Amino acid sequence: MKPIVIVGMGLAGACTAWHLWRQGVPFRLVDRGRPGSSQVAAGLIHAVTGKQCAVADDFEIRRDEAAQFYQNCERESAHTFWHELEVVRLLDPIEFEKKKHKFAQGAASHWVRDIVVDRRWPDAVAVLLGGGARLDVPKFLFATQEFFGARGCYEEGEIVAPVADAMTLFCEGSRGLIHGNPIPWRHRCARGEILTVSAPGWKQQRLVTGKGWLLPLGGDVYKVGATYEWDDLERGPSPEGLLRLMQMARSLGGDQFEVIAHEAGVRPILRKSQPVAGMLADDVYVLNGLGSKGSLYAPWASRQLVDLIVNAVPLDSSLSVTEYFANLPEQT
Ligand SMILES: Cc1cc2nc3c(=O)[nH]c(=O)nc-3n(C[C@H](O)[C@H](O)[C@H](O)COP(=O)(O)OP(=O)(O)OC[C@H]3O[C@@H](n4cnc5c(N)ncnc54)[C@H](O)[C@@H]3O)c2cc1C
Repeated sequence: MKPIVIVGMGLAGACTAWHLWRQGVPFRLVDRGRPGSSQVAAGLIHAVTGKQCAVADDFEIRRDEAAQFYQNCERESAHTFWHELEVVRLLDPIEFEKKKHKFAQGAASHWVRDIVVDRRWPDAVAVLLGGGARLDVPKFLFATQEFFGARGCYEEGEIVAPVADAMTLFCEGSRGLIHGNPIPWRHRCARGEILTVSAPGWKQQRLVTGKGWLLPLGGDVYKVGATYEWDDLERGPSPEGLLRLMQMARSLGGDQFEVIAHEAGVRPILRKSQPVAGMLADDVYVLNGLGSKGSLYAPWASRQLVDLIVNAVPLDSSLSVTEYFANLPEQT
C-alpha cells in the first residue's frame, strides 16, 4: 500500500488518524496549524434537536459508536475529553402543547426522563432528557497532536495538491469546501459565533437547550451559542452576534454573567450535517461536510473511510461522495 497523508487535523482528520493507528497502518497527519471549526465547536451531542424536536434515525447507533471511540482515545492518550451530560429542553407552554405527543411516544420519548416546571424558567416547560454528551474538542485535538507527534506521525505544514506516490486524504473542513479543494464543491457553509462566560450565580450542571444552548464547562464557566450566518464567511466575531448571544445567555442562564471570550468559526456544510467520504480520483480521498454534528459523525464516517482504503469495504451509500455527486440537483 502507498504511504498515507492526511491533510488537516480537525475532527475529520484526527478521527481518521486514530482509526489508521488502530489498524496498524502508517500515515502522516499534516495540519497548517491554524484553528478550524473544530477549535471553536462546543462538541455537543444530544438527541432531540431543532425547532421540530426531531431525533435523527441514526442518532443512537452513532452516539454509541462515538462514546466508545472517544473513550478508547482517552485511554490511549491518557487525557479526558468525553463528558456525559443531562439535557434540559425548554419549550414555551403553547409550543409544548403542540409537541407533547413527541415526548410521550416516538423517537424523542425514548430520551425523556421527566417533564417539570422549574422556577429558573417560570415561563417555560422543561423536558429533562438523557443521552447528552460533550466532547471537549480542543482537548481531543491537543491529545491527538501530542500522541501522534510523539510517534513522529504529526507535522505542521500546508498541502495544497495531492502528494505524489502517496494516498492523500483531504480533511480540510470549510476551508477545502470554500476554496474548492481538491475539487469544486457546492457548499452551504455557515458561520457560527459562540460565547464563553463566567456566571458564579447560575449553578447549572445540565446542558440547557431552547432558543440556543448553554453548556456548563465546570468552575462557573459556560459556553453559550450558537449563531448561524451564511454570508460573509470570512468575518470573525461580530457586534450583532454578540448581542444575540447575550440575549441567549440571559434567557437560558440569567442576567448576571461576564463575557470571557467571543469566537467565530465556519461549519463545513454540504447537505445539512450529513458528511461525505470516499475516493475522488486514484489515490485521492476526502472526508468533509460534517456540518454542526462533527463530534457525533466523525468517528463513524472516518471508520468507513479507513475501512474502504485499508480493507476495500464499500462505504455506506449515505456517506459516499460518488452518490452525493450523482444525486446533486441541477443548478438553476
Ligand atoms: C460556532 C460553532 C459551534 C459548533 N458546535 C458544535 C457542536 O456543539 N457539536 C458538534 O458536533 N459540532 C459543532 N460544530 C461543528 C464542528 O465544528 C464541525 O462539524 C467539525 O469541527 C468539522 O471538522 P473538520 O475536521 O471537518 O474541519 P476543521 O475543524 O475546520 O478542520 C480542518 C483542519 O484542516 C486544516 N487545513 C485545511 N486546509 C489545509 C491544508 N491545505 N493543509 C493543511 N491543513 C489544512 C485546518 O487548518 C483545520 O485545522 C460547531 C461549529 C461552529 C462554527
